[in-house]
Amino acid sequence: MSAPAVPLASTARRAAAMSACPVHSLRGKLRQARLRPTRQRIALGWLLFGRGNRHLTAEMLFEEARAAKLPVSLATVYNTLHQFTAAGLLREIAVEGARAYFDTNPTPHHHFLVEETGALLDISDRDIALGPLPLPPPGCEIAGVDVVVRVRRAAQKGG
Ligand SMILES: [Zn+2]
Repeated sequence: MSAPAVPLASTARRAAAMSACPVHSLRGKLRQARLRPTRQRIALGWLLFGRGNRHLTAEMLFEEARAAKLPVSLATVYNTLHQFTAAGLLREIAVEGARAYFDTNPTPHHHFLVEETGALLDISDRDIALGPLPLPPPGCEIAGVDVVVRVRRAAQKGG
């Protein structure tokens, strides 16, 4: 049996965590997008970008902010989401009616919409092929194509 390697492992983990410090990279991300890294942007950005690729409505982010005891209003959450979107850090996806999702992965990709829950899931680029696109209306050009594939729980078979 070898000696417990806990202290060494935790030191290595700490070093790794520091080199990929989320707040540090978030500040860089904001500066790159020409957004001043204010306390509120850092706090909301931490919630948004700290957990991988996500799809959030303003209300969902507001609830997370409240749970994290951040003193922000829903209006501030909306404004911040739209500033991040305008700066290219988020992509806004209008799914239905008044509901808009903000995607922390701003690169073009497509989604499943789960009808029961309203949740969005990414579709891998490999798994979808687009046919020829229609000609845009006069004076317009195609800015992007967002495919939303609606899914629902399949009916139970047999049994
Ligand atoms: Zn997505």
